Amino acid sequence: MERPQTVVFTDLDGTFLDHETYQPGPALGALEELLAAEIEVYFCSAKTRAEQQAIAGEIGVEVGFIVENGAALYAADGSAAVFGMPYLQVREALHNAATACGAIVRGYGDMDVAEVMEHTGLDERRARYAQDREFTESFIIQQGGPYELSQAMGEYGLRLQRGSRFWTAQGEHDKGIAVRHVIAGLGANVESFGLGDFDNDIEMLVAVDTPMLVQQHDGTWRDLHVEDMVRLSGIGPIGWQGGAEMILRRHNSR
Ligand SMILES: [Mg+2]
Repeated sequence: MERPQTVVFTDLDGTFLDHETYQPGPALGALEELLAAEIEVYFCSAKTRAEQQAIAGEIGVEVGFIVENGAALYAADGSAAVFGMPYLQVREALHNAATACGAIVRGYGDMDVAEVMEHTGLDERRARYAQDREFTESFIIQQGGPYELSQAMGEYGLRLQRGSRFWTAQGEHDKGIAVRHVIAGLGANVESFGLGDFDNDIEMLVAVDTPMLVQQHDGTWRDLHVEDMVRLSGIGPIGWQGGAEMILRRHNSR
């Protein structure tokens, strides 16, 4: 029998990090406990590699990164895999698709750092990390409907994803593809957990053994249809802390 392993994938904004303050609060101590128990943890979000590395560095944890909605994964041991399209190609295709359906979109690449700060509430350093994109474009829709835009984007090889603040244009990848890649590399005796809060977490949650959902900042759970979902009590990082306790108990009983 192979050594039992546990792996945890977590969304950041609204899940591990508070929606307003971008701080992990009580989730940080819980994450440290998971790492101390030799549980592998991956950040798995729409955020860029620069942003995720900065967050891990600030809180002093060693984790893996699944960046830009599954566009690439960078493991803590230095290995990497890329599933996404180059950023400039995505931007060009997005603007072509918008033109084709009469929509007007404004992406991070169209904004200066002050505008990104205004939309996100990020400080200047984090806003610059958010603009340091490799594979996907986050944007707001200024004119036109998401349905028409998503149809037009399909013609240009792009997918439209909804995040809690922005829309995202990306190639044919999602969080689930990267999550499955990690799990497949861990051998047969692995148990996987995922923590999320919103629509763009569905593919990650479907790919793990135990999907967990924290409460959104308004105190409700997003209505996501995922089998055997554990609905955690607590908004964002508060719910996360409870989820981590369940994961730790489960890990220690194996
Ligand atoms: Mg989120």
